[in-house]
Amino acid sequence: MAVPFRRTSKTKKRMRRTHLKRKVNAMTACPKCGATLQPHRACTKCGYYKGKEVIKLQETEEEGK
Ligand SMILES: [Zn+2]
Repeated sequence: MAVPFRRTSKTKKRMRRTHLKRKVNAMTACPKCGATLQPHRACTKCGYYKGKEVIKLQETEEEGK
């Protein structure tokens, strides 16, 4: 098996790893309540998607907390 001729320097290693940064997820704001959410998904706070209520959220449970 081939062996590296030289040890990779700190600079070379760090230069290579500048491309390995983790991406931040794209987030949008809900047009109804303004909560941050992922695009193309129903809002988890109000249950709305494209101006219609698509999920019935039990509000009595959240208000009781
Ligand atoms: Zn919402």
